[in-house]
Amino acid sequence: HPLRATRYVRSVHELKNLPPDVGREVAIAGRSNAGKSSAINAITDQNRLARTSKTPGRTQQLNYFEVAPEKFLVDLPGYGYAKVPPALRAHWEGLIDTFFRTREALKGLVVVMDIRHPLRDFDLQMLGYGRAGGLHCHCLLTKADKLPRGQQAKALLETRRALGDDATVQLFSAEDRTGVEEARAVLERWLAL
Ligand code: GDP
Repeated sequence: HPLRATRYVRSVHELKNLPPDVGREVAIAGRSNAGKSSAINAITDQNRLARTSKTPGRTQQLNYFEVAPEKFLVDLPGYGYAKVPPALRAHWEGLIDTFFRTREALKGLVVVMDIRHPLRDFDLQMLGYGRAGGLHCHCLLTKADKLPRGQQAKALLETRRALGDDATVQLFSAEDRTGVEEARAVLERWLAL
């Protein structure tokens, strides 16, 4: 599958340093510890790809991964457990909002959420910015393996109901690989791979 070729290219701290606004991009967001790095690694079939975003102090940068020429995944680090100073947080939110609204190449947003705690404030905020930017939005309910089947189905139904037409939703697990193919199909479609 084409996503296997994904490689890290660079991190961007300010919008003026973004690569040229051409081709196609998909942004991936998630609260810290939601399972975003594991999801990126599972989807791209790579072990250590998404580690860059975990470096302490790098919560305010866009990490660019190239899948193919002019096709990128953009990893957006979420908030950690440590309190983010309000001014820094406001700056980050402004940057994301502007990025989502102005970036021509950006086609879609994937929000990674722990199936046991979906639709927290951060997730709703990201989805709100995504919708405001006219992006397709897709949610991964990850760590699905942590719940029995019945509860997985219930969480999926409830999250779908809550989001309505605002986003599509699927089950995911980097552990037992539930939904990996489904997530790949979404990315391949949005990136026109
Ligand atoms: P990130 O901070 O969102 O990038 O989260 P990570 O991918 O680093 O995952 C956070 C923790 O959750 C790690 O201990 C992972 O091993 C664990 N984790 C991630 N995905 C899954 C999953 O699908 N199933 C299970 N059981 N654990 C997971």
